[in-house]
Amino acid sequence: MSEFAKKVHSYTEQEQKFGDWFYQEVQADLVIEKSGWAFDSSQRVAKRLNQQRQTSLKIEPVVIWIAQVTAFIVPGRYLYISRELLQRLPGDDAIAFLIAHEIAHHDLGHVKLSNYSWLKYLPGDVYLAMLLKRIENKFTSLEHESQADQYGLDLCLSAGYDGQKCLQLFNVLEAHLLNFRAFEAIFGSEELDEHDSEYWLGGLGQWITQTHQWGQQLLQSHPPVRERKNKLEEYLNSNHCQVGEK
Ligand SMILES: [Zn+2]
Repeated sequence: MSEFAKKVHSYTEQEQKFGDWFYQEVQADLVIEKSGWAFDSSQRVAKRLNQQRQTSLKIEPVVIWIAQVTAFIVPGRYLYISRELLQRLPGDDAIAFLIAHEIAHHDLGHVKLSNYSWLKYLPGDVYLAMLLKRIENKFTSLEHESQADQYGLDLCLSAGYDGQKCLQLFNVLEAHLLNFRAFEAIFGSEELDEHDSEYWLGGLGQWITQTHQWGQQLLQSHPPVRERKNKLEEYLNSNHCQVGEK
């Protein structure tokens, strides 16, 4: 039995309250897309994924306009995807994997309300977008990322998405990270040495401070993109992977 078919965590009333409050804060500060291509595709995909989950409590995607290429989930019913990331994805399968990965963090109980209580004490004039990009990596661990990848892919396969096309998400992330010269995030630290480290270090100095921090967080908490993709490709080609077969 695949992991997503087991009993999943469902948001509590308290978490739902937090999620609704957070949504209001986001809405007050940022543009949320409520129609058009990006909205439609995220809704369409989330509906199909939710149907496969063992709970009646649905997770809803919210498309927001921020400059960062990012997606994250907070306690409650909403997950957030930047339009900037969504528009780079080649089709529904990759979008499904992105959404399923975030849903996985929820279902597997990775999203702890206590980790987010600090948000409540922010002064009202803090620009929320500055904080959002910090959320994505703040509370994840290598183990959680790997679990979310696996569960997310199983959920996609169960909903009838094409596993190989799902993994195109990683190509998009890799292309994006290359722009930031985050070699280590893509290849892992061992292969980093094989690259021109002067180029790496030289580029580092040119980063704006925020980008640097973002890169550092990503290196600390996420397994290399290439490693994640390879692992799931192996899984797709293995006998263990049967949920996608009809
Ligand atoms: Zn994650």
